[in-house]
Amino acid sequence: MEMATQEKDSRERFAPLKMSPDEFRALGHRLVDKIAEFLAGLPERPVLPGESPVTVRAAPGGDGLPGSGSDPGLLLEEAASLLIDHSTFNGHPRFAGYITSSAAPIGAFGDLLAAAINPNVGAWTLSPMATEIELQTVRWIAELMGYPTSCGGLLVSGGNMANFVGFLAARRAKAGWDVRAAGMAGNPGGPLRAYASAETHTWLQKVADLFGVGTDSLRWIPTDAHLRMDTAALRDAIRADAEAGDRPFLVIGTAGSVSTGAIDPLPELAAICREHDLWFHVDGAYGGFAAVLPDAPPDLLGLREADSVAVDPHKWLYAPLEAGCTLVRDPRALLDAFSYHPPYYHLDTSDDAPVNFYEYGPQNSRGFRALKVWLALRQAGREGYASMIAEDIALARSLHRHVAACPGLEPRTQDLSITTFRYVPPDLEPGDPVVDEYLNRLNTELLTRLQERGEAYVSNAVIDGAFLLRACVVNFRTTEADMAALPGIIVRIGEEVDAELRPRERVKES
Ligand SMILES: *Cc1c(COP(=O)(O)O)cnc(C)c1O
Repeated sequence: MEMATQEKDSRERFAPLKMSPDEFRALGHRLVDKIAEFLAGLPERPVLPGESPVTVRAAPGGDGLPGSGSDPGLLLEEAASLLIDHSTFNGHPRFAGYITSSAAPIGAFGDLLAAAINPNVGAWTLSPMATEIELQTVRWIAELMGYPTSCGGLLVSGGNMANFVGFLAARRAKAGWDVRAAGMAGNPGGPLRAYASAETHTWLQKVADLFGVGTDSLRWIPTDAHLRMDTAALRDAIRADAEAGDRPFLVIGTAGSVSTGAIDPLPELAAICREHDLWFHVDGAYGGFAAVLPDAPPDLLGLREADSVAVDPHKWLYAPLEAGCTLVRDPRALLDAFSYHPPYYHLDTSDDAPVNFYEYGPQNSRGFRALKVWLALRQAGREGYASMIAEDIALARSLHRHVAACPGLEPRTQDLSITTFRYVPPDLEPGDPVVDEYLNRLNTELLTRLQERGEAYVSNAVIDGAFLLRACVVNFRTTEADMAALPGIIVRIGEEVDAELRPRERVKES
């Protein structure tokens, strides 16, 4: 008897994080019910609660680390309530701020399943099926955009990291010295030079800073009237730097700029890179997936010629955060930039060798980000994505038309699914410096108030010194009715702010 009891005890361990299968099932059902209810009621909620940081900070309770444990069912209820009551909902039909998409519900299931199995997608042996699914996801992403499916690639946390990976592959391939061993100090010649338009996202400053290349190495090429890189200026800059003994190594084209959706002339950038033997990287974090459209602009399709492309499944593939992806034309360029073979990893050099993702990027242990992307790609298919992306663009264009037809609103740019505009009181004439400065202040305050109230959510862009409102539709819940409602909401707040600000501002009326 005693022996048997001891044996049983030695096989059972109490651990405070254990959960019985029955408990897991019951809690899971309750949570899923709560999420389903939340999704059903989303359009009726404000886009955000409009609370101060102090209020939000106080909500979870300010006590110290719990000394002892709590009931997991109560915790899940509480966490769900905290998040549902105090979040900004990028999945709300009237959320059109920044480039943050509505998340596909199947992606939430993907993340749950990935966390339950918990494969470590750093090494094949720790994640055989997950690694193969990630490889297939990378090939499908390439196929979706018409990029060669023989490319290498991997999932990363987002657009910034995806661009970092491309930049580091470029530096390794084109530096001309062993930059991985000798570092930047090993440069035997003039400084490395990377070229990008002035509209490029700030990932470029970060990568140049973080990896020692330095932001002074960056050449910011001016843009034309459509905010696209001026290729004549690019050619001049490359020539001047080469003549001065510097080392041009990389040209970055943007496929959908973060502020207006402008697309650089990518085919011409590709040609310039071939002429000068430079690495051609495309930042397609926002617009890359629009290459799936049958009527995609030819300039965008130039991304197919790039040495590397960064895209962001958590933008136009509607994956829940986080999911970025880098594609590199020659998979060996990733190995060259990132691979080490520490003695504690067994290296297989056979033809059908397993892929170990730790060798293809900066991470070692890796989560299974690819699953949510893979599931959504299968649920929607190429046609599903083409129609969702096309409809987002059509809605942004429709907003542009509503704005143009609305007295008091001045339409500005329209590219991909971004529309910019501003509120101009009908009795004011832009062009006069005093009026222009007032319009900037007026629209800044208008945006603050719009964002606080939560009726709808847009963000801003600054173009030629003008503060503009900016709507970006990457949201499969947004409808024509939401676009039609936006001008009225904005004019109403604009009139209110104008009435408050103008008497004190003493702007000349025209
Ligand atoms: C969003 C974006 C980035 C950064 O991507 P994250 O996912 O936010 O890291 C970079 N470039 C462009 C053009 C973007 O739109």
